[in-house]
Amino acid sequence: MIFNVAGLLKGTSGGAKKYSLEGEELSSEEQGSFELISGMITLMRTDRTIMVTGRLAAVTHRTCSRCLEPAVLNLEAEIEEEYHPANTDLGGTQRDSRFEEDSLDPVLLIDDRNDLDLSQVVLELLAGAMPIAPLCQPECRGLCPVCWKDRNKTPCHCRQNTSDPRLAGLAELGSLKAHSADN
Ligand SMILES: [Zn+2]
Ligand SMILES: [Zn+2]
Repeated sequence: MIFNVAGLLKGTSGGAKKYSLEGEELSSEEQGSFELISGMITLMRTDRTIMVTGRLAAVTHRTCSRCLEPAVLNLEAEIEEEYHPANTDLGGTQRDSRFEEDSLDPVLLIDDRNDLDLSQVVLELLAGAMPIAPLCQPECRGLCPVCWKDRNKTPCHCRQNTSDPRLAGLAELGSLKAHSADN
């Protein structure tokens, strides 16, 4: 996901370019893989940087946290990042000492061929947009804590209420809590 911003950097502050993304893929060991990345982004030249804004949607395949079956997640993320050119001379303006190269996030650096790489920022945004506990469907019934069957596929008749007298027999198998947890 690389954009050459040589033209923008040569232009004046406020100059902008819009790009539409469609069906892009990104993956990394840390964040996993994301498919069908789409959306519109705007690259705008500011005094000394390129501001990237836009909204992206993507799809990722994870494991449902309740039933452990595959879960397809639709994600959305808003992007707003400022990239600094490695080429110090921007149209003859004096380089701001606040932007010393070694203090800059290398991820947000436009390289000396004026290529702006959005991949890492988008990966982190999409990973951040993921739910902490992914679900295969909002109403996933999960695994039965008694027989471990997937209750989405096989409705079981296990008693979930441990104070049920018909479960008293189980208490003898060591689960004495069944009696005290009478709520
Ligand atoms: Zn599930
Ligand atoms: Zn069960």
